[in-house]
Amino acid sequence: MLLLIPGPVQTRPEVRAAMAVDIAPWDRDFFPEYIAIREKLRDIAGGVAGQHACLPLQGAGHFITEAAIRTFIPAQDRPGAGKLLIPMNGAYAERMARLAREAGRAIVALPCTDKRSIAPAEIGAALAADPAISHVGIVYSETGSGIVNDVPAIGAVAREHGRRMIVDAVSAFGALPFDLKAQPEVDAVVFTSNKCIEGLPGLGFAICPIGRVEASRGNAQSWSFDLADVFDTAQRTSWGSFRFTPPVQALHAFGIALDIFLVEGGQPVRLARYRENARILHEGGQALGLKPYLDREQQGPVIVLFHQPDHPAFELQRFVDALKRRGVLISNFHNTAEPTFRVGCIGHVGPDEIRFALGAMRGALEELGVRLREAA
Ligand SMILES: *Cc1c(COP(=O)(O)O)cnc(C)c1O
Repeated sequence: MLLLIPGPVQTRPEVRAAMAVDIAPWDRDFFPEYIAIREKLRDIAGGVAGQHACLPLQGAGHFITEAAIRTFIPAQDRPGAGKLLIPMNGAYAERMARLAREAGRAIVALPCTDKRSIAPAEIGAALAADPAISHVGIVYSETGSGIVNDVPAIGAVAREHGRRMIVDAVSAFGALPFDLKAQPEVDAVVFTSNKCIEGLPGLGFAICPIGRVEASRGNAQSWSFDLADVFDTAQRTSWGSFRFTPPVQALHAFGIALDIFLVEGGQPVRLARYRENARILHEGGQALGLKPYLDREQQGPVIVLFHQPDHPAFELQRFVDALKRRGVLISNFHNTAEPTFRVGCIGHVGPDEIRFALGAMRGALEELGVRLREAA
């Protein structure tokens, strides 16, 4: 089966095979492997040894995002309370807002649409209007619609206004460029094991400036979600040790995926592959008569959405089932206000797989009896 969803993504056989072992996470033979993963991730993020730390957490992307919010933004009713500005351009921005709200953190929702990236000037105006905003929370690649926010430019604006930033790079890390040492305003860049690094699900990571982590002790109001405690535990019991039981097989497999990523040429090579996937899909879908959700210039490399055909015979679950019979699995839900369907461009897939998927889409539409006018 070809998985074209934005995580968990299609993985290589050797990455999946690495799961088939028993490992004790506290075994001293495993420590160096785990330490190496942390250091490689820090380096990929543009972090510097001794200045930045890679802080892992068990679980899904939402968990590491919540941990970053709790750790770096003191709650509303606490001394030094922070306030998080979030440009609302998609489903994951909505989720970040909910995570913050439910953790008792103050937020300012900056209106936008999920069809375009936020302009750095809009962020600048919002920051100028409210000096109480301590942080900008930004989704780098908005997986709900496919747009990409300009994190380096938005970071520059935050820096200019003396504010901090939390970056949800869950569907961006490893594909879109990111350089922590050039973005000192960033408190945390967060991501997971199962997206652009092409590992299996189970782990989240935050890369953070050590000084900021040390200054954030006691903020989290949660033991499980406290990145300062993750840091302190590593200091106390070694960087090879984990707080609580990790999904150790997923971690081991992630190390293999990470080495493949590095040998391949890292971020620029991965971005080029995903970009080509997205281009073929965006153009090929139009050739089938489908209408992309985003204009070409807003289309990011991670996921391509199409409007559901306005045809009585189209029904999303039936389309997904017909595609699955042809060997291609896509999401059976959408995160947009308008009815769309989404096709992932990330994972261990290249142009051949995307062309195969386009053929399957043509077949599935025919099977459903959905006749589309061929695009000009
Ligand atoms: C996948 C994703 C997440 C996290 O999703 P989980 O299901 O919690 O792993 C967060 N943000 C973005 C932008 C994502 O693409």
